[in-house]
Amino acid sequence: MAENKQDNLELECEHCGTTSELTPVVTYVYQGEEKHICTHCLPMLIHG
Ligand SMILES: [Zn+2]
Repeated sequence: MAENKQDNLELECEHCGTTSELTPVVTYVYQGEEKHICTHCLPMLIHG
């Protein structure tokens, strides 16, 4: 029985609050905690 389960995984950027529906959101780990940030805010993260 093949089951095509489509998980609607929606992540939310912790900086601007956008969701992965609108903007690609990447997951990273900082100080042992999993964080989510969109590609728009990622440069800010890199610059600190
Ligand atoms: Zn963002």
